[in-house]
Amino acid sequence: MSNIIKILPDTLANQIAAGEVIQRPASVIKELVENSIDAKATSITVNIKDGGRTLIQVTDNGIGMSPDDARLAFERHATSKISVLDDLFNINTKGFRGEALASIASVAQIELVTKQKDDQIGTLVVLEGSKIIKIENCQSIVGTNISVRNLFFNVPARRKFLKTDSTEFGHIIDEFQRIAIAHSNVELKLINNDNIVYNLPSQSLKERIVAIFENSFRKQLVDVKTDAGFINVYGYVSNPQNSTKTNFKQFFFVNNRFFRSAYFNKAIQLAYDKLMPEGCKPNYFLFFEIDPQRIDVNIHPTKTEINFEDANSIFNLLVSVIRKSLTHFDFVPSLDFENAPVVNLILQNDKKFNNKGNETFYNETNIHSQIDSLSKNKSFSENKIFDSIQSQENQSLSKQFLVLKNKYILTPVKSGVLFVELKEAFKQIKYEELINKSDVGRTSIPSIYPITLIFLIEEAKEFDKIRKELEQIGFEFLNVNEQTVNIIALPPFVKPDNAQQLILNLIHISLLTEVNVKSIEKHEIVREIVLSENYENITIQSNMEAQEIINKLFACKSHQYTFDGKLIMKILNFEEIEQLLK
Ligand code: ADP
Ligand code: MG
Repeated sequence: MSNIIKILPDTLANQIAAGEVIQRPASVIKELVENSIDAKATSITVNIKDGGRTLIQVTDNGIGMSPDDARLAFERHATSKISVLDDLFNINTKGFRGEALASIASVAQIELVTKQKDDQIGTLVVLEGSKIIKIENCQSIVGTNISVRNLFFNVPARRKFLKTDSTEFGHIIDEFQRIAIAHSNVELKLINNDNIVYNLPSQSLKERIVAIFENSFRKQLVDVKTDAGFINVYGYVSNPQNSTKTNFKQFFFVNNRFFRSAYFNKAIQLAYDKLMPEGCKPNYFLFFEIDPQRIDVNIHPTKTEINFEDANSIFNLLVSVIRKSLTHFDFVPSLDFENAPVVNLILQNDKKFNNKGNETFYNETNIHSQIDSLSKNKSFSENKIFDSIQSQENQSLSKQFLVLKNKYILTPVKSGVLFVELKEAFKQIKYEELINKSDVGRTSIPSIYPITLIFLIEEAKEFDKIRKELEQIGFEFLNVNEQTVNIIALPPFVKPDNAQQLILNLIHISLLTEVNVKSIEKHEIVREIVLSENYENITIQSNMEAQEIINKLFACKSHQYTFDGKLIMKILNFEEIEQLLK
């Protein structure tokens, strides 16, 4: 038998890798401009010819490269950005794989001129299809100037797949806009066939958005800002009245990196629920700042999806913060939110929810053990509510609860009086109990009388899509005909009276869902279950009961805002009380 395995020559290996990183001129621009930003450039110019097909030139005033680095930069896995595995979990630069320049060089003709601040003379490197054909000293200003000519000149099959110049130019604009919004402090210029397309000075985010899109955006942008401890969310969303059916602008960034998320997009749609005319979509420009360790860093350069460890909490936070921002903009008089800044009380320690059944957890816990676990977490040390409750080691104080009209629980805390809205507290407690229940679906209770669901044709089709999810949580159905189904058993946490409406609501949510997303998610089912209940007749009989509710509430991951954005608690501090009594 003869051997048949061969090691691919480097050039071919690079070309194969290039197929993944460099799909079209826009991807070259993304990689080059990101390199300039990583090199701390404050001014970057992108100059293209013929949709980037014949020339892509990026000039920056960044830190430049030494002569050796200028040569090494084009080797595969050549990067200055990570050196040990741990770095991989703490990435603060755009690039880190050391693949981009090697990939681009394997499929184009390149000329690089670069110089560092302390060097007298710069370096010129000329490459063609991965091979260095010239490397010499040259005159240069500080920074880097890289020209990429005749992309895919040596890969005709890929060159053929490029679309018309104007289509490629469209992709370039998309990419350029994302970078420009993510880095409004960087001066950016785009020149196409000698015409200036964008000439953007260093400016605020708002000014940048207005400069890129249209002047009318200035009036319609609503400020969004919240610090939830594990994540900072800020940016702008559009006034619901300015939402449009087409041509809407929707941008998510995490640590200044553009990403797409059908899931978070749904959170925003939910926040605008009923505020927008049917079929309209809002504009949004939202930035997440999060510890890189809490996202999946091993992001493929061409992929724009990112995995978040705390996707569920972020979803809820988005709904609540956007609703709140829209309310503040006082064109939504019907919603009633507090002026209080969002105080960080979202628990970061998720494990206790996953490892134990909820019942046991709730029984074991009380505010004080809750505080113990909180205080192990440094980021909570500055938290006001937390501090005030922590200081109440004095047991007798923490046992004083006042229940008003079966609507509010009041209890003294160090900085004033804590008000808890009972109905909202119940909702959130129930929501988190169900969300964290691992045995959802083990039990079904047969319905005493069949509950009949009669669907429209569209609804019947959608019902088929979500039926399995519903059966998993304990529903059982019997088909009567194509548009009629009987519910013959229900999960114990759904009241028979609410079942019909609940399922219809879920079908309607599923109908709203974008095609490529799972039609319904657990948190949506739970949300509807919790919302379908009536909380008007809650009664609290004893101090013990009040204490238990407060304990349960503090065991929730989110205890200041409910999953649907309602305020659960607020502290009236002594200054406010004084003001009140003046
Ligand atoms: P990565 O960005 O993943 O490190 P690249 O192939 O994009 O890999 O770049 C390789 C290296 O070349 C970078 O790590 C950086 O040191 C250097 N480099 C690339 N572009 C520039 C630039 N515009 N200014 C300074 N250094 C650069
Ligand atoms: Mg790079």
